[in-house]
Amino acid sequence: MIEPLDALKDKVIMVAKILQSQGVIDGYGHITARLPDNKILSTPHMPPGKVAVRDLIILDADGKKLEGHGEPNGETAMHTSIYKVRPDVQCILHYHADELVALAATGQEIKVISNAGVAFHRGTPIYDSPVLIRNPELGDRVAATLGDKRAVLLRGHGGTVGADNLDQLVRMGLDLVRSAKIQIMTASMGLPIKIHSKEECEAMSRIESRADVHRRFMDYHVSEVVD
Ligand SMILES: [Zn+2]
Repeated sequence: MIEPLDALKDKVIMVAKILQSQGVIDGYGHITARLPDNKILSTPHMPPGKVAVRDLIILDADGKKLEGHGEPNGETAMHTSIYKVRPDVQCILHYHADELVALAATGQEIKVISNAGVAFHRGTPIYDSPVLIRNPELGDRVAATLGDKRAVLLRGHGGTVGADNLDQLVRMGLDLVRSAKIQIMTASMGLPIKIHSKEECEAMSRIESRADVHRRFMDYHVSEVVD
């Protein structure tokens, strides 16, 4: 991610505020972004939506704190493990949204029922344990479960999303929860469900990733948290 550090810090704060305003993170969860020289920018061990620029911390590739006043999150290992095996992933969100917990409990991955889910059409594997990811061995297991996908669901716990940039992270973080919610809604009707075909997913992905579509999405969410 080629972006000056100060701008990146401001964006991480904005991302956390948007995710909090939309109700997908509460007092827990964390956001990180890859920095040059194998460093990682991270929200500290505090409610992410309440973090200010001065609270952000910088970690080395193993999660050891290099700069900042706050302490690393207990589940930092999940982030460091994913960054090590996924050079394409530039930022990560981990959260505990109810919809993701509900879906993972049924053993179902995200089904692409709405256009909000097309980013996840290659699958959202489920890490089959509720234990918090507090050491590198567990981090490696989550990274292995994620594989080359965009998101992993953690049974009884939440979900983790990896993105190319922070705008995309907001979008996928919200769309994953929305997709889970729609899936739960349709399941409650007890009727057969139509799922997007691979071609429909790919066609919609091209539209959804267009700059103007993305701009509109971000404009709305930024306006909701900025006076
Ligand atoms: Zn967690």
